[in-house]
Amino acid sequence: MKSSFLITMCDLSLAELRSFPPGTTRILMIESRRKWQALPFHRKKITLGISAMRHFAAELREAGYEVDYRHEMDFASGMRAHYQAHQPQRIFAFQPREWGMQQILTGLAGELPLTIIANPFYILPREEFIRWADSQKTLRMENFYRWMRRRENILLQDGKPLGGQWNFDKENRQPPPDRAYPDPPFVEPDKITREVMRLIEAEPGLWGSSDGFCLPVTRLDAITWMEHFFRWRFADFGPYEDAMRRGDYIMTHSLLSAYLNLGLLHPREVIERAIQAAQSYAVPLNSLEGFVRQILGWREYIHGIYWHQMPKYRTVNYFELEGSLPAWYWNPDTCDMACLRDSIEMVRQHGFAHHIHRLMVLSNFATLIGVNPLRLSEWFWAGFIDAYEWVELPNVLGMATYADGGLLASKPYISSGSYIHKMSNYCASCRFNVNQKQGEDACPFNYLYWAFLENHREKLIQNPRMAVMYRLLDRKTVEEKAAIRRDSERFIASLPLEEAAYRFEYDAG
Ligand code: SF4
Repeated sequence: MKSSFLITMCDLSLAELRSFPPGTTRILMIESRRKWQALPFHRKKITLGISAMRHFAAELREAGYEVDYRHEMDFASGMRAHYQAHQPQRIFAFQPREWGMQQILTGLAGELPLTIIANPFYILPREEFIRWADSQKTLRMENFYRWMRRRENILLQDGKPLGGQWNFDKENRQPPPDRAYPDPPFVEPDKITREVMRLIEAEPGLWGSSDGFCLPVTRLDAITWMEHFFRWRFADFGPYEDAMRRGDYIMTHSLLSAYLNLGLLHPREVIERAIQAAQSYAVPLNSLEGFVRQILGWREYIHGIYWHQMPKYRTVNYFELEGSLPAWYWNPDTCDMACLRDSIEMVRQHGFAHHIHRLMVLSNFATLIGVNPLRLSEWFWAGFIDAYEWVELPNVLGMATYADGGLLASKPYISSGSYIHKMSNYCASCRFNVNQKQGEDACPFNYLYWAFLENHREKLIQNPRMAVMYRLLDRKTVEEKAAIRRDSERFIASLPLEEAAYRFEYDAG
């Protein structure tokens, strides 16, 4: 009698099934409608996930596996139906990446012969992160990253960081360059992908379009994308990783997060290839270290924090913000803030914008106008091709909005328009004036920033990293403060608020 192996949407690597050969193992894969109907997900994101699953099923069949590929309302029904049909001796599954799937599997454990095995898709098992976290006074990423560099012996020389520094952030804050970079390879949709695109395009309640879908959906294509990045954009990744350029949703970024998070690439192999490629293409250390930090540091840290803090992480809201997301976040056509409109348009078109658009435009703006951080996290989760709950809760509630009160970040990532002006070419084509502080033509980030500091004084005044800003705020005259309040209230009242377009069902499977 065979056993079964449950492959979820995110566990797609054939190499990881080595211990479960075709002779003894049947593969179970489930397309759950309930999962993709839980939010108005971007059509390109759902197309990517389903097409990758279907390609992987074909690959498994070619490798000799019997694949029970089911189209079901939800995972639990699919697993029960599979068990009834095949009566497997055991059903194996990788430790889920997300809380919702863990709840589903826990719920089924009493009725099905389930065995959960270690998840191979991260460098650090989550239990080890929890041991690390429990040994720390604070959970800062920088400490974790240094610990991981030592643990994995990466970019070290005689036990010391290569180049004499743990990071090269000071060299990595350049404004956008003039030169263009070659686009990543266009992956022509094959028959499987075209069929998924048709299916998803006709599906109501989703966002964006699957038209123009050209993303990798197999491991081989994902490797080609990775190699293209190393060849053409890697060397400039470091200096321009925080820069934004109008209409350029990739800049010097790799987009490999989508493929790491799907399971088509393994973080260890990406880091190893990056170190080799840095030698082949004379990539400077600030770019190599910055890239390694995103994967070995940030990605592993975010995954660990998620499991360390769940399920309470869904409820944090330090500033008690309850506002709705402006309707612009789904349709930016009437938004006249150039940076915000372009960042949202990138997401609507491509399901992607890089980390500074996410942090300093999309999250910054939402926080300053008082959007509930969980609603913002759901929007990121719905819209971005690399987003899952484990990615978004720590990134949005922790890093971007400070909703966890400082567990991750030492201060909120909020700013006036000057940061966006410095790091992008947006302001020159904006209807607002970044240098103007008050009035209808002033950049909204300018007065919203000071109004936010004033409104949340009690919660931020003790933060040493905010001390300089409060000193500046306190030097403003009564008239200036009144103008800040007036402009902010006028602007927020004029925003088109999100209609109740969805009701998200957490833990939908
Ligand atoms: Fe954005 Fe303000 Fe610059 Fe306009 S002026 S692009 S709103 S930062």
